[in-house]
Amino acid sequence: MTCAAERKPPEQKQLKAHEIETDLSRIQHLSQEHDDENWEFRSWLKQNAPDNIDGIVHELSQKYFALIDCTQCANCCRSLQTEFKKSELHTIAKTLGQSIKEFEKQFMSEGMVNPPCPMLDGKLCSIYENRPEVCRSFPHLEKPHFTSRLMGVVDNVAICPIAFNAYEELKTKLGWTKGRRDLRR
Ligand code: SF4
Ligand code: SF4
Repeated sequence: MTCAAERKPPEQKQLKAHEIETDLSRIQHLSQEHDDENWEFRSWLKQNAPDNIDGIVHELSQKYFALIDCTQCANCCRSLQTEFKKSELHTIAKTLGQSIKEFEKQFMSEGMVNPPCPMLDGKLCSIYENRPEVCRSFPHLEKPHFTSRLMGVVDNVAICPIAFNAYEELKTKLGWTKGRRDLRR
């Protein structure tokens, strides 16, 4: 996983409501409906993504982080199993007044923290300023080598409104349509 359940509230909302989807049930439904299409777009991107794809996706990520309020969502913190670094786990266990063993027993399985994350308080992260690295970068659209991480991206579109809207807009931006088969020149 994971996220940033307490990103700052959006400063601007310039898009009209119909242009952006934030309803989590609808996003889940549309992602199921678009499943074949999303995987097809993923295959197309592997072969045909433009050289500046990381920059394009970075811009889309920034755009949707400005438009979508993570404090009204927290779906990643509620739904995803998360792998934290050892040092981060120690800090979190300490915050809860537990030993690492107690924390593992209560909240983890197979080295991952089970959802909902024990640090989630309502829709806010109780350790927001010190949240783990993986939470800071979720849904990982601003990391380099976007086309090498597409499986994770396709998984995240069903969970994260930012990933969902960015992936949908990327299709339009690149002029991609279902059934398009052209390969890199
Ligand atoms: S699922 Fe996406 S939009 Fe929702 S809190 Fe996590 S990062 Fe923010
Ligand atoms: S520590 Fe937990 S609640 Fe905080 S951002 Fe990460 S997953 Fe969400």
